[in-house]
Amino acid sequence: MVADEGLREYLDKRDLDVTPEPAGGETSGSRPRFVIQKHDASSLHYDFRLEADGVLKSWAVPKGPSTDPDDQRLAIRTEDHPLDYADFEGVIPEGQYGGGTVIVWDAGVYRDLSEDDDGAIIDVAEAVEKGHVRVWLQGEKLRGGYDLVHARIGGNEKNWLLRKVDDGEADARRNPTSTQPASVISGRTVEDVRDEEADDGTRS
Ligand code: MN
Repeated sequence: MVADEGLREYLDKRDLDVTPEPAGGETSGSRPRFVIQKHDASSLHYDFRLEADGVLKSWAVPKGPSTDPDDQRLAIRTEDHPLDYADFEGVIPEGQYGGGTVIVWDAGVYRDLSEDDDGAIIDVAEAVEKGHVRVWLQGEKLRGGYDLVHARIGGNEKNWLLRKVDDGEADARRNPTSTQPASVISGRTVEDVRDEEADDGTRS
């Protein structure tokens, strides 16, 4: 599984002897998962990842997701990540691709609502190729429909837009990236994780 074609770019960018990030190998469960990792790197962003085709399809969202349908967010397509990355929290050493501190900001399962031109449901990997993904998230912080649209902002092929679908879960008054900053798996903030790992380094 490590030699999986889908993860070649991920593996090429990392020295797994140096970074604590996973090497891959986990296989899919019965319901596809999503994860949003808060990543305090050279610039803070949120990595939005959807399980599809045995990998995590990934986008970096500089301002993070919104619960307001009128507030669409730039989402920059990044390389597919291994499924076991969904549980990763920790500090990535400086000099490794990405670098910085990661927490699992939200996670859960999702339902695929992506459609082809005739309105039939297509799988997320195919929807990524077509340039329009729609999913129903069942997270702790985010719920309901989200669209990812390959809008090519500024003429850049990597640039997509993430926006909340205007459904019963939409709420323009919420602002979960500021009011709910902690990890849904450990309760820690990125600052907590960075401080804890710095302490470990001093002791060892
Ligand atoms: Mn990132």
